[in-house]
Amino acid sequence: MRLELKGITKRFGALVANDSIDLVVESGEIHSLLGENGAGKSTLMNVLYGLYQADEGQILLDGKVAKFSGPGDAMAAGIGMVHQHFMLIPVFTVAENVALGHEPTNKLGVLDLDAARALVKKISDRFGFDVDPDALVEDLPVGVQQRVEIIKSLARDAKVLVLDEPTAVLTPQETDELMEIMRGLAKSGTSIVFITHKLREVKAVADKITVIRQGRVVGEAKPSAETKELASMMVGRDVGLTVEKKSAAPGKVVLNVQDLSVLDDREQRAVDHVSFEVRAGEILAIAGVQGNGQTELAEAILGLRGLHSSAGDISISGSSVRGKSVRTILEKGVGYVPEDRQKNGLISEFSIAENLMLNGSFTKPFAKGLGIAFATRNKIADELVKEFDVRTTSAQSAAGKLSGGNQQKVVLARELSREVELLVVSQPTRGVDVGSVEFIHERLVEERNSGKAVLLISTELDEVMALADRIAVMYRGKIVGIVDANTDRAKLGQMMAGVAA
Ligand code: ADP
Ligand code: MG
Repeated sequence: MRLELKGITKRFGALVANDSIDLVVESGEIHSLLGENGAGKSTLMNVLYGLYQADEGQILLDGKVAKFSGPGDAMAAGIGMVHQHFMLIPVFTVAENVALGHEPTNKLGVLDLDAARALVKKISDRFGFDVDPDALVEDLPVGVQQRVEIIKSLARDAKVLVLDEPTAVLTPQETDELMEIMRGLAKSGTSIVFITHKLREVKAVADKITVIRQGRVVGEAKPSAETKELASMMVGRDVGLTVEKKSAAPGKVVLNVQDLSVLDDREQRAVDHVSFEVRAGEILAIAGVQGNGQTELAEAILGLRGLHSSAGDISISGSSVRGKSVRTILEKGVGYVPEDRQKNGLISEFSIAENLMLNGSFTKPFAKGLGIAFATRNKIADELVKEFDVRTTSAQSAAGKLSGGNQQKVVLARELSREVELLVVSQPTRGVDVGSVEFIHERLVEERNSGKAVLLISTELDEVMALADRIAVMYRGKIVGIVDANTDRAKLGQMMAGVAA
């Protein structure tokens, strides 16, 4: 089916999330919608899926104007969407999930299980999905769950399939498999809108690319375009994509984690007998798909999980810190960039200057008797804002008003400007604009060059490969192996899926 969006405008109050967007997706085409976080991609697709009503503009399907008052209408018209967060019921089987939620108008009756089972099998066989209709969803790997979502759409006769950042949760192999599936679907005539910010994937699978920035279409591109060219279209200026890095000169062991196990919030073992060390002057990266224990590992190292929730040992520069308070650990010389900066990194209501001072307030040069030297604080804040290129009119504005990328720069500015021996950095560029990624990467390499031990935790394999000196891969709470930084992507991908080094 040919999809045409004409002049779609969607406002949220004063914010124009989509500004007169035109987009044409031909029948059987894989069309990538490329843009940074906040560019307006999901909003546009939510308009197409009937979740939002456009303020202006039209949706045309095979040339006819379509009006959707909800997702039910959109589905009935042949639009399918796989969201970033799956909408499956874990304790149900694949067939049950497919049968459920079918609109009564559809050819499948609600909960007609036999028909659902047959349909899953038919679709699975046709496109090589390899999905068992009777498997429980909760037993399936994430990549397969995603295929179940696609099957759900196809079972409802989707002719246009929207995939919103589908690869964020996948290993490299699962990503390759998904691309194969996309190609197969396109061949059969399904039109695919593939949303991503990952240039590698766009270049590998797209027939056509539309780049959007700040709610507007800024241009179209061919997949053969240079990566650099696509990146600068996304960002609106030239960006460097590689990090200059000389080989590491590791010194003494700073962080030593031995036989560490950590329980998560549900008292399940999230980190399972993990051992590694990080030396001064090196970056050790923990790679892995989201949710394999990385968060709990970082939290245990920082003292954010109580003594009772861990076993084993964590020592920093020779002294044991497991179960010690966060403050004790930070004072030992640890800088921390948390993965959730809104929750753990910043106090939104505080000014940028106040946030910059947070962890340093009990050490020089901020502490002055019991009071705080405000003039000193403000002067240093202004310098840091400048040095870290935080885009704000003043260091006195509330941190919560900054964009995600600029908030991240505030956290980095604070943590990198402290006198520390160890930096624990989780997802340092998540939600950060491509233009700032380069800057953050360069700063992390500088810290390593200056002799700090850096523990980088990242689910972005490109980031891990660009920055790490050594790579430890986590899978289901265990370290599958610790390998050299020049290990190839395919090998790392296998390790991310649990195959030992
Ligand atoms: P993308 O998917 O490209 O990352 P989104 O479409 O999610 O971007 O967001 C575009 C802009 O619209 C952002 O500034 C976002 O904060 C804003 N936005 C998205 N959804 C809503 C909403 N429901 N209410 C208010 N603002 C929103
Ligand atoms: Mg989005």
